[in-house]
Amino acid sequence: MRFVFSPPVQASLAVANSDARFPVRRIFCVGRNYEAHAREMGNDPTREPPFFFTKPADAAVDTPCAIAYPPLTQDLHHEIELVIAIGRGGANIASDAVQAHIWGASVGIDLTRRDLQATAKKMGRPWDWAKAFDRSAPIAPIVPIADVTSLRAGRIWLAVNGEVRQDADIADLIWPVSEHIAILSQSVTLAPGDLVMTGTPAGVGALVPGDVVTGGVDGIGALSVTIAAKKDIA
Ligand code: MN
Repeated sequence: MRFVFSPPVQASLAVANSDARFPVRRIFCVGRNYEAHAREMGNDPTREPPFFFTKPADAAVDTPCAIAYPPLTQDLHHEIELVIAIGRGGANIASDAVQAHIWGASVGIDLTRRDLQATAKKMGRPWDWAKAFDRSAPIAPIVPIADVTSLRAGRIWLAVNGEVRQDADIADLIWPVSEHIAILSQSVTLAPGDLVMTGTPAGVGALVPGDVVTGGVDGIGALSVTIAAKKDIA
């Protein structure tokens, strides 16, 4: 095949304890998947069906890293999330079969331009400009599923400059991994390389240039991200 110009480099993430990389195909994100966070955003989460939004594959960046404070916002927020890496595709996957489709897991931050999201909600517009901007998904090295302690329980936390702001347990997911991935696969045919960011617990908040953000999911991984001033990074 001949292209009119060189195709883009395949987006990818580091894999823990390996020099092979995980090729990223799409990034799906689950909205409002922890009760306390849904309530802090002004919603009643009583088992409303899960809903999804997306980020482009190249929003994924390895950690540790520095990320420039993004354009168009004055209210950049952190959302720490368990990340699931799909290794085998499929549609209409039964919840008890989801495990066989998972290649690995990690932890990432769903960086959010909260002011743009608030405007989008008010105007009935899409969330893309709030969620799908460049470098909006810093993610720790992916851990192969055989090395993951549990996808059902484990502390999930995030700290800014050493001060803990988000502190919960993935056991509190309203729609656990097996269920929300089964439901996602009813809407799209999942493929190897897809990532699922599974939602954030309560305690989201603003970041400013100079902040050092750390976070993790116990038994899976940890990350560190520095928010840089726009002028500090090309
Ligand atoms: Mn999120």
